Amino acid sequence: MFGITFSKLLIIAAIILGLWFLYRYLQRVEKLSKMVLDRKPQARTPDRDGVVAEEMVKCRVCDAYVAARGASSCGRKECPFG
Ligand SMILES: [Zn+2]
Repeated sequence: MFGITFSKLLIIAAIILGLWFLYRYLQRVEKLSKMVLDRKPQARTPDRDGVVAEEMVKCRVCDAYVAARGASSCGRKECPFG
């Protein structure tokens, strides 16, 4: 006798199948995580541009576009930012 029965072969086959499915699952998770990482910078750019566009306001005195937050005066007395 070799000490290998049909039930033992079934268990070995089940373990190999389990490892195979685990390997496939991990590959899919890695692929999905890469897709998410690749998509993040592209998704972030329009939002950032939109925020920047909203924050820009025009000075009615000097006709210059300045950031609404932290806007500093251009130096003229009538400038609303100061
Ligand atoms: Zn100004």
